Parts: sequence; structure tokens; C-alpha cells
Amino acid sequence: MDHHDPPPPPVEECLTSSRKRKYKGGTLIAQGVRTLDEHGKRVADADLYRPEICPACEGSSLHVHDRLERHPRGLILVAVLTVLRFICANPECRATWRVLPAFLARNLWWGWEPIAHATQPEIAAPTEAPEPPTRTRQRWMARLRSSARQLMVLLASRGTQAVQAVGAAVGVNATRTALVREHAVQLGIPVLWRLATLAALVDRLERGIRLMWRWAGSA
Ligand SMILES: [Zn+2]
Repeated sequence: MDHHDPPPPPVEECLTSSRKRKYKGGTLIAQGVRTLDEHGKRVADADLYRPEICPACEGSSLHVHDRLERHPRGLILVAVLTVLRFICANPECRATWRVLPAFLARNLWWGWEPIAHATQPEIAAPTEAPEPPTRTRQRWMARLRSSARQLMVLLASRGTQAVQAVGAAVGVNATRTALVREHAVQLGIPVLWRLATLAALVDRLERGIRLMWRWAGSA
């Protein structure tokens, strides 16, 4: 094997290759952080956000690297959000990891709540909530109407038994919307959180595969 970075592998190969490839870090999602209050608490006390292990080298020592300012869209009363980035102390590794709260959709920079309101008519939006532009909403809808096949392969190969049962229940031709709904029903996830929860699971299982977005890094 040579040591050049290969081009991104096709999906099936992604699923079987090790996640311990050398990379310089990325984004982690803090599943428990669903409110701004909780996020603020953890930004103030970085230990609450600090990853227990570095996903790249499994080292257990990470330091706060810097604090990033982000301007998420669609959040009520919030213009600027501070996000912590940690760096692995292992000199061989030095991967950096920014940790996002679960209420923020990675890569989209929208809060999950406005995305849920905009794409799922059965969830009533609070009147003061900012609305996404029509084009943005249409893109999200199109993505949710598309085939869930890639996600099903991922969940079937890496998911828990409960998650595998979800795939079996919706069938191979399901849309992403159908998968999101069935996953929420079977695992008892509140309606407002069903997109965010499945997106976080997908993200944890495989970097580079997205529930709402086609490629990592696209905007
Ligand atoms: Zn590391």
C-alpha cells in the first residue's frame, strides 16, 4: 500500500473500512445538548464538552484548542454561538475536534428545530421562529424525499439490533422521511427531535454520510 491519501471510497467500501484512518480531526456532536442553556453551561465549563477519547488515536487527553464563533440561522434570540474546539494532546496525533450541540445541524448551520418545522407540516412552528428561504426549504424537502438506501446499508451494518429492525420495517425502497419516522416510532423519539437524533446517529456511525446533506463539507 502506498501512503498517499486515496480519493474518497464509494459508500460500500466506506462502511467496511476502519474508522481509525489518520485524519486531522473533525466535528463531534454532543447528543445530550438540546438547549441553549445546556450549551452555555458546557461552554463555560469545558470539561462538560471535552471528549473522553480522541476518535482518531483513542488518546484520553484533549485540551481546549480555541473557541469558534458561529452564526447559526433559525435560532430564536441567538445571533452568535460559541463552539469549543479541542486538540488531542498526543504529539503523534494532534487532531482537532469541534463539538457541536445536538440542536445545531452540522454543515447546515441551521438549528434542527426550524428544519423540523419547515419540513414536517405536522409540527407547528412557534410564531416568532425565523423561517428559512423557500429554496432552502425545497432543498431539504427534496433530500428527505430521496432514497434512504445508503443510510439503510449503514444502519444495517453498524447499527444496534433496534436500529436494524427499523430498516427491516421500512423496506429497501423507503425514503429518508419514512426512515426518520419509523426510527422515531420504534425508539420512542419525540417528533421534534427525530431528524436531529437520526442525523446524529448517522454521523456517529460514519463520517461523510449525512441525513440531510449529500457530502461532508458541502454547503
Ligand atoms: Zn488523538
